[in-house]
Amino acid sequence: MNDARFLSIDRVERVFGGGRTLFGTARPGVHAVQGVSLDVTRGETLGIVGESGCGKSTLARMIVGLDRPTGGRITLEGRDLAAEADRDPRALARRVQYVFQDPVASLNPRKTIRAILEAPLIHLRGLNRSARAARLAKLMEAVNLAPEFLERYPHEFSGGQAQRIGIARALAADPDLIVLDEPVSALDVSVQAQVLNILDGLRDRFGLTYVFISHDLAVIESVSDRVAVMYFGHVVEVGRASEIFARPRHPYTRLLLASVPAPGRAAAVAETGETELPDPYHPPPGCPFHARCPRASDICRAGFPASAPAPGRPDHLTACHHPEDGGMPAPAAAPEFQQG
Ligand code: SF4
Repeated sequence: MNDARFLSIDRVERVFGGGRTLFGTARPGVHAVQGVSLDVTRGETLGIVGESGCGKSTLARMIVGLDRPTGGRITLEGRDLAAEADRDPRALARRVQYVFQDPVASLNPRKTIRAILEAPLIHLRGLNRSARAARLAKLMEAVNLAPEFLERYPHEFSGGQAQRIGIARALAADPDLIVLDEPVSALDVSVQAQVLNILDGLRDRFGLTYVFISHDLAVIESVSDRVAVMYFGHVVEVGRASEIFARPRHPYTRLLLASVPAPGRAAAVAETGETELPDPYHPPPGCPFHARCPRASDICRAGFPASAPAPGRPDHLTACHHPEDGGMPAPAAAPEFQQG
């Protein structure tokens, strides 16, 4: 198996709604994810970034089998994940795990941490009592939590501790791939750093591959080997993290970067133009970013641009009719973004 295709997302779509009413009237569908293609190498972290509503969480849910694509396919080492989720969801859960955004809400308040962590050891790994005890000790040590916490309940923990328990639960299945959906966005900045450091160490120690979803560019930059930028259900730019942050080519990526407060640069604020995502029930023709884009031309309103590599950089792809040359984003005022 070519590791370049460890996880392969091939022209994946997810449409919600649509079809016809009882009276035969067509109902509009919402294209939450449209024609997304991405490959993830074993052992790497792919960061997926975009505004709230861009489709990144829908994509995450399809990767772990909580939702099914309505077009295209997602494969892990050549095996179709949607088919695997239908045929043997436990087999899929042994290979792919999910870490939720809200750490406390994701833990059953009526169960002790021991019961929460033992569930995957029993149901996914079939470990006996002594093997479970050894594995629990290892899991707690891996996420830097004291073993006596096993007898406590989720409400007794801070957000950062609860998220470390959520990570330990994902690790309990001994997966190859973990999808982390905004795993630190509910945490204070200092706690974020602790959790990100733990995740970084676990990836190397357990040979994990991460798909890391966040709206927070600083977080994405700190954790990712490669970054995919999503807008309105599409991947509009993908490449090495260092390339994307130093030489963004898509106008949306530049606008995202310009909207991040930085020392010596005022946070960009809305002055003119559209600041909202387009209406998903009535998507605009052509490139969905054209109403916000300073480089838009007639061709942008006519057709969605194909992804093309940057000159001399075949792994830096941009879906834009008029990509920029690269270089750091100008500190000019830019529309404010919804981040959540
Ligand atoms: Fe802007 Fe056109 Fe590129 Fe879309 S395709 S981002 S409207 S230049």
